[in-house]
Amino acid sequence: MKCSITECKSKAEQPVKIGLKETRNLCKYHYNLFKNRDEKYPPNFSKASEFKEKIN
Ligand SMILES: [Zn+2]
Repeated sequence: MKCSITECKSKAEQPVKIGLKETRNLCKYHYNLFKNRDEKYPPNFSKASEFKEKIN
């Protein structure tokens, strides 16, 4: 399975729950970005606007 980040070609290693029903599969690198999203800029998911609504 591929990482859910559009421009990323890495293999997904970590499923991340981003909403009530939605999950994204992230590689190690993007998983770390996701965990640190308050400190760094958030990664670009393919459905970026939807993602933004759910974390706010
Ligand atoms: Zn990735």
